[in-house]
Amino acid sequence: MNSAVTHLDDYDTEHRFEATVVGSERITSDASDAEVREITLDLQRPDFELQLGQSVGILSPGSEEFGQEHHFRLYSVADLPERGAGGLPRIKIAVRRVSYVDPYSGERYPGVSSNYLCDLVAGDTITMAGPYGLAFEVPEEMDANLILIGTGTGIAPFRAFVKHLYKNVPSWRGNIALFYGARSGLELLYMNDERDDFTQYYDLDTFDAFKALSPRPGWSGAVDWEGTLGQRGEKLWELLGQPNTYVYVAGLVKMREELDKAFSQIAGSEKKWARRKAELTAGGRWVELLY
Ligand SMILES: Cc1cc2nc3c(=O)[nH]c(=O)nc-3n(C[C@H](O)[C@H](O)[C@H](O)COP(=O)(O)OP(=O)(O)OC[C@H]3O[C@@H](n4cnc5c(N)ncnc54)[C@H](O)[C@@H]3O)c2cc1C
Repeated sequence: MNSAVTHLDDYDTEHRFEATVVGSERITSDASDAEVREITLDLQRPDFELQLGQSVGILSPGSEEFGQEHHFRLYSVADLPERGAGGLPRIKIAVRRVSYVDPYSGERYPGVSSNYLCDLVAGDTITMAGPYGLAFEVPEEMDANLILIGTGTGIAPFRAFVKHLYKNVPSWRGNIALFYGARSGLELLYMNDERDDFTQYYDLDTFDAFKALSPRPGWSGAVDWEGTLGQRGEKLWELLGQPNTYVYVAGLVKMREELDKAFSQIAGSEKKWARRKAELTAGGRWVELLY
């Protein structure tokens, strides 16, 4: 997100602090093979200050065998910060348990940090650093159009952001369109049968949520951005031409290409889209949090 910091090694992890795990809850249904857990942490750093859209760093224990002191990974804060035990800052993160396939051996290995986090239980202590990254800023214009586009755990920062707008910004009267992509309905976070944090806004005239699912959930799993955004293409293109429209994007890096394809179709050509996106980016009206 912050173009000045591109490699994990470049992040300042000198200023570390401990956090206590208050709880860990699975937020994907048991029927889904995607395990995402919401982990609540009390930070042993009373002066911790966070802006919405920022991430925190987790240092999970490294392997002595490879002389690695720790593994460092970033996670978006998934809710508005609160005060926990003894008035300490309390935050939530949503972590997906992931694995990776070694390109040489073809073997599948569990991801170190996400598995470490998903295995934590209440009372455990972890080492953290941060916060990092640019914030998703509340637009200056209180009647702005916000287009939020996320996939998978990319919904986490938007959940905090939308809550903040409706709870803490009384003069906000802009429109929010949330586009949320997932491989299947079972993988939608905070927007599924068991937990729908956004239902409270569905009756508002200023809030719209659209789900973009993969047409082939069991196979390639690519989210149908072209269909979902394309169906509203005319309206989106009109909004993108207005000076008070902001687009915030969060999720996996592959989204960039998928969205470029979908918006190029909407714009009528790749060139036209590249020009519009460059204008939006230069004006701070297209902001990406991709990982
Ligand atoms: C700014 C930023 C914010 C992030 N916020 C979150 C967050 O809120 N929640 C979260 O779970 N992760 C988030 N990540 C990703 C996280 O930092 C780790 O990369 C991830 O947990 C995998 O770490 P690992 O050590 O377990 O596995 P690794 O060995 O590092 O990665 C294993 C594989 O998993 C893929 N992968 C990584 N993250 C995800 C994901 N979320 N969903 C699907 N596949 C993934 C990687 O591409 C890789 O192929 C964020 C990353 C950045 C840079």
